[in-house]
Amino acid sequence: VRHLVLVLGDQLDLQAAAFDGFDNTQDAVWMAEVAEESTHVWSAQQRIALFLAAMRHFAQALREAGRPLHYRRLDDADNRGSLADELQATLAALKPQRVVMTAPGDWRVWQSLKAVVEAAGLALEVCEDRHFFNTVREFAAYAKGRKSLRMEFFYREMRQRHGILMQHGKPVGGQWNFDVDNRESFGAKGPGLLPQRALFEPDAITREVLDLVRTRFAEHPGSLDSFAWPVTREQALQALQTFVAERLPLFGRYEDAMWPGEPWLYHSQLSAALNLKLLNPFEVVHAAEAAYHAGHAPLASVEGFIRQILGWREYVRGIYWTQMPGYLERNALYAQQPLPGWYWTGDTDMACLRDAITQTLAHGYAHHIQRLMVTGLYALLLGVQPQQVHAWYLAVYVDAVEWVELPNTLGMSQYGDGGLLGSKPYVASGRYIQRMGGPCSQCRYKPAEREGDDACPFTTLYWDFLMRHEPMLAGNQRMVMQLKNLSRLTEAERQAVSQRAEAIRQGRVGGSQGQPA
Ligand code: FAD
Ligand code: SF4
Repeated sequence: VRHLVLVLGDQLDLQAAAFDGFDNTQDAVWMAEVAEESTHVWSAQQRIALFLAAMRHFAQALREAGRPLHYRRLDDADNRGSLADELQATLAALKPQRVVMTAPGDWRVWQSLKAVVEAAGLALEVCEDRHFFNTVREFAAYAKGRKSLRMEFFYREMRQRHGILMQHGKPVGGQWNFDVDNRESFGAKGPGLLPQRALFEPDAITREVLDLVRTRFAEHPGSLDSFAWPVTREQALQALQTFVAERLPLFGRYEDAMWPGEPWLYHSQLSAALNLKLLNPFEVVHAAEAAYHAGHAPLASVEGFIRQILGWREYVRGIYWTQMPGYLERNALYAQQPLPGWYWTGDTDMACLRDAITQTLAHGYAHHIQRLMVTGLYALLLGVQPQQVHAWYLAVYVDAVEWVELPNTLGMSQYGDGGLLGSKPYVASGRYIQRMGGPCSQCRYKPAEREGDDACPFTTLYWDFLMRHEPMLAGNQRMVMQLKNLSRLTEAERQAVSQRAEAIRQGRVGGSQGQPA
């Protein structure tokens, strides 16, 4: 073997840079399904199944393209269980002249594979990942010397640099940001008739994977009954087309809305296909932009959607690779609580959390505002150690890969980086959840109440959070209003909040605390 091209579970693209110059007569591809990638965090069944099903379909595409493939299946009797051990054995057997791979999306995997190749004394060629608008080096150059790294300014530069939604050097529509037109809730009437989720019926390959995951990972969280994710490039392209046709026009308006029992709303559900590299962000952004120019979708929606991909997605990747490995350890708020055990089951009497977690376990999916302002917010207010929150998010979502999950969780949601990513902690009371369409009317708690047996735990913990972190937040311009409201509380009110917050932390309200069995 001349070149051995390594393909990881989130690098499923026949056009990836690692395949440039691939010669079917001299080169070979290596892929491995290993248990460690499903157990280093307690991965949900849908997440495991999606990766394996997409990998097996990609293996089929490689074979059809005539590319020699060394593929290790999870159920092979002599599977060594880790990527490093599998690679080491393959290198010893094949003795390639050179190992080639696309830059991985996970620091841990990157370190371990690099060490194996180096120990084997082989040359390693790492190719740029072409599934991003920005290279890590370009982001590092952008970040150099800046005190704070705000997404908004980075995003504007990206729009200009890539000429997206631009006209004569100015943003189309005369402004960069249409957030004021977005952020609506569904109001009392509710969302009405919603487009159906784009469903992809499992084929024989996927069904075999589902059976394997059911037996092999029976104890892992979640269920597989609703599995319908796109697992091939063709399906991913179809999912993109359906999104643009059916959901994009209202995406922006209801981007921040929630509704009980409605997981998908107007969201694209494309994150997993993007992160597995079944889709390329260029084609996704261009499809959205074309829908605007064709008069199919309004600018506010299209801009809001493009901002997520050209802005947030690129930005968090840059943060990850310029901050790792130290980023993983950060805990600016010194939060030390354990993650409540019911995060793994949904067994809590707080209706919004029960909804978001039950849905997460059923589908491996929750939309952004549920992740940020329900599950994330509660962990932040409770004071859960960010590394435990991170392990949960990395485990339960089908789109979870560390480069994107970690900055979102530790940075945006938990303020663990002390404001590198977000300019303030995203804290709110239960009233925010109520306003955005949360299930408060079906909940045993009352979102407007701060104290007493019926007080919404979010609301109690919100005030408790402000009290606990008042000195640190005092210098933050964006917290002025919230702290001003806090200053109106009497000493007795403060004490009542602290006492109830303590009861919540001890698991006497909302559900028991602690680790899963
Ligand atoms: P849409 O709402 O349709 O958005 C369109 C696309 O924009 C998404 O598919 C995604 O590719 C991108 N996008 C949107 N928001 C973000 C963001 N904040 N960062 C990066 N890309 C974004 N996203 C992941 O892909 N993997 C994760 O593991 C992940 N973990 C998260 C953890 C927390 C605590 C939070 C607050 C957010 C997380 N996100 C993650 C970001 C976002 O919530 C998901 O990308 C989104 O909910 C996926 O659903 P969708 O495809 O329907 O997105
Ligand atoms: Fe959630 Fe509080 Fe509303 Fe209940 S009252 S659903 S706990 S925000």
